[in-house]
Amino acid sequence: MTSNVGTSNVGTSNVGIVIVGAGFGGIGMAIALKKAGFGDFVILEKASDLGGTWRDNQYPGCACDVPAALYSYSYELNPAWTRIFAPQREIWDYLRMCSAKYGIDAHIRYDRVVERMDWDDGARRWHVVTGSGDGYLARAVVSAAGALHVPSYPDIPGADLFGGTSFHSARWDRSCDLEGKQVAVIGTGASAIQFIPEIAPQAARLRVFQRTPPWIHPRLDAPMPARRRVPLADRALRDTFYWLLEARALGFAVHPRLMAPMEQVARRHIERQIADPGLRALLTPDYTIGCKRLLLSSNYYPALQRPNVDLVTERITGLTQTGLVTADGAAHPADVIIYGTGFKVVGAVAGLNVTGRDGRVLDGTEAYQGVTVDGFPNFFMLLGPNTGLGHTSVVFMIESQVQHVMSCLKMLARDKADTIEVSASAQQRFNRGLQRRLRRAVWSAGGCRSWYLDTDGVNRALWPGFSFEYWARARRARRGAYLVDG
Ligand code: NAP
Repeated sequence: MTSNVGTSNVGTSNVGIVIVGAGFGGIGMAIALKKAGFGDFVILEKASDLGGTWRDNQYPGCACDVPAALYSYSYELNPAWTRIFAPQREIWDYLRMCSAKYGIDAHIRYDRVVERMDWDDGARRWHVVTGSGDGYLARAVVSAAGALHVPSYPDIPGADLFGGTSFHSARWDRSCDLEGKQVAVIGTGASAIQFIPEIAPQAARLRVFQRTPPWIHPRLDAPMPARRRVPLADRALRDTFYWLLEARALGFAVHPRLMAPMEQVARRHIERQIADPGLRALLTPDYTIGCKRLLLSSNYYPALQRPNVDLVTERITGLTQTGLVTADGAAHPADVIIYGTGFKVVGAVAGLNVTGRDGRVLDGTEAYQGVTVDGFPNFFMLLGPNTGLGHTSVVFMIESQVQHVMSCLKMLARDKADTIEVSASAQQRFNRGLQRRLRRAVWSAGGCRSWYLDTDGVNRALWPGFSFEYWARARRARRGAYLVDG
């Protein structure tokens, strides 16, 4: 790999590699480059701090539902985790620690919203333009922008009429005191079930608007022993969690019928925690477990049974100045509406406005190994299409993808070439196989509708198998799949 640092046009810098996003992906990519002795890169970060998801999501109770021992880089186990499931603040601190320890901080350019990225075939460079007016001419681009960062607000008639306060879970308004207020929460997904138990004691009245009940397992959290000094113990814990969670993929990777024991656990959780048969019925999903993300909580069902909390399952038909209206005509007064309504997954990549060879526009629906796309030379994605997971840590996927990118970059350097691009046939073969498996999988066959499926019902989000299978296939770029040129 050669580098050509310097400045050319006014406001445009030459740089070896542009990384977009300073979250788990971007920082992990940067660390790998540094370890390989390559320092000619910048990270363009849209916000004024690093951390991605773990900076954005600061709602009360925010934590990761994957054990922290596994939700971390394999080479940087963290003896500072205080609990099995680390709270948001600790994960954010962990990312800061990694960035500082590996010398990444100096490479991050904050408040740089990438507006567009265009491939210049003559110059064999990516032209990256940011909203702050500066641009970069880069040999390669790694998009580590993530899929879950553009808040999705439901299209409810009358939303502009509402006179109270409203905000999204990923844009928590800390100036809004919920004490003694009438609060409405829309959504009962992974984020909502974490913050509902935290805000329920503050609100005078909390109304939870549920469209589809989630399947929930107990969350077996516990404090981690303080001052752990045995790195081998942390490694063993990580490996144990890895294989425990991988076992959950049997129903995803082999057959939805294998989800049955997991459904039993969830049904027992409902029976143990909810006495009222009417409420049980409202909270019992009618789709196969795993079709939507399986959630973990031991305090969500108890929170719903507090005397000041109501579960509303009627469809929301509109907002008024003073609250919400449901299909049965009932009015539900609210001072505050909190949207726990998830993210716009498609908008995430499309928002980068990437134009490749011959004017092709990146839509982010399909890639080879989720990383490279035909027509987009020297362009790589982390957590790209079909590399999300429903059962274990996406940090594992990120690391496999970083290895893939490094192996492409090494191929370029070995061949003293200018460009590397996946072949159209390799990409097609990969995606045909993927979609064949996905059509049979629980996310399509389980009788639910989730953000994993696009408007045509095609799963563009998840990897259909075990994570070790992905690692085995993706960690090294196969020369036969790539065209190396120049
Ligand atoms: P989500 O899982 O997409 O949940 C959104 C919720 O809003 C769902 O209950 C959905 O109902 C509801 N909703 C959406 N539009 C609605 C409307 N028009 N009317 C009524 N309800 C509506 O979003 P999220 O909870 O923010 O989680 C998103 C993803 O982030 C998760 O799948 C997960 O990958 C990740 N996450 C992870 C963790 C973690 O601990 N690792 C924590 C939080 C989030 P329907 O089900 O009917 O669509």
